[in-house]
Amino acid sequence: MRAHGKLVDRFGRVATDLRVSLIDRCSLRCAYCMPPEGLDWLPKDTLLTDDELIRLVRIAVGLGVTEVRLTGGEPLLRRGVPDLVARMAALRPRPEISITTNGILLDRDAAGLAAAGLDRVNVSLDTLDPERFKRIAFRDKHAAVLAGLRAAHAAGLAPVKVNAVLLRGINDDEAPDLLGWALREGYQMRFIEQMPLDAQHGWDRAAMVTADEILEHLRAVYALAPVPDPDRGSAPAETWAVLDGPDRAGWAQDNPRVGVVGSVTRPFCADCDRVRLTADGQLRTCLFSRREWDLKTPVREGASDDELVALLRWAVQHKELKHRINEPGFVRATRSMSQIGG
Ligand code: SAM
Repeated sequence: MRAHGKLVDRFGRVATDLRVSLIDRCSLRCAYCMPPEGLDWLPKDTLLTDDELIRLVRIAVGLGVTEVRLTGGEPLLRRGVPDLVARMAALRPRPEISITTNGILLDRDAAGLAAAGLDRVNVSLDTLDPERFKRIAFRDKHAAVLAGLRAAHAAGLAPVKVNAVLLRGINDDEAPDLLGWALREGYQMRFIEQMPLDAQHGWDRAAMVTADEILEHLRAVYALAPVPDPDRGSAPAETWAVLDGPDRAGWAQDNPRVGVVGSVTRPFCADCDRVRLTADGQLRTCLFSRREWDLKTPVREGASDDELVALLRWAVQHKELKHRINEPGFVRATRSMSQIGG
């Protein structure tokens, strides 16, 4: 493969963060993501094999991708994730490798993943109440997620980040409690605005709990100070230092922070450095893309590395300027969050 420059789009943004979906299936049915009966899962032979996936990641790393985030569906439902991580960690330059997971299998996998080279983990948890968890995710797995979080922490996958989506009338009163718990446990809490990416098309702007509301709830209990913008880089979360609050002495962090991802009301597209590879080998340049770039077919039809490089560059050049959720006539993405890889 010839030496190639970075993946730059028409607006000068450089793609350095590759989100790789390992599988579209999930063990939960979170109401804002998937219907209780599940979805039509991808046939197994349409999923990229480990070798195909590693090849594409290797090519992307050669084009300046410095961070690979494994996601899904639920990525740990795929077999052999520690092996995949080890193969990614052996690439040069070595990318940062992280995983976004519902945490259910982390009790089993955290130590092996850390040993294989995983750097960080994001665990999704929307509530501290097992009954609410069942109501949101349609599975009785709250205790398993908590055990997974403890295992990740014990395995040194720091900082363990916890992502929560707040739903009006269901768990929107929990922001301060979730933050308090995370501060005590040593996790970094992040709240994410609900996006129109559910398979059921149930998203309702008026019902969405906004970043402003989340901050208002947090500020009723905690003293927060914005972390200056230069520290943000391309991170989707706006970060706040937690200066004071209840049980200060019991917090397990020296530099406590909380993140708020206002994807809808505070979009960060201008600094977006992300591209996504679906489990079936389609490149997406935005969560809200209406088109995908097929990498699987050329891979399976014998394309050379240089040909794949050209395809990747072409796709990234055509990356969307921004999502258009806030504009009249917004049309939803062609697939839902769990099918894309969040
Ligand atoms: N199963 C893994 C997990 O639970 O983290 C990885 C995939 S999941 C699709 C990734 C993240 O997307 C989770 O934090 C989930 O809460 C979030 N998510 C799913 N649907 C969403 C939506 N409509 N709006 C905002 N976040 C969403």
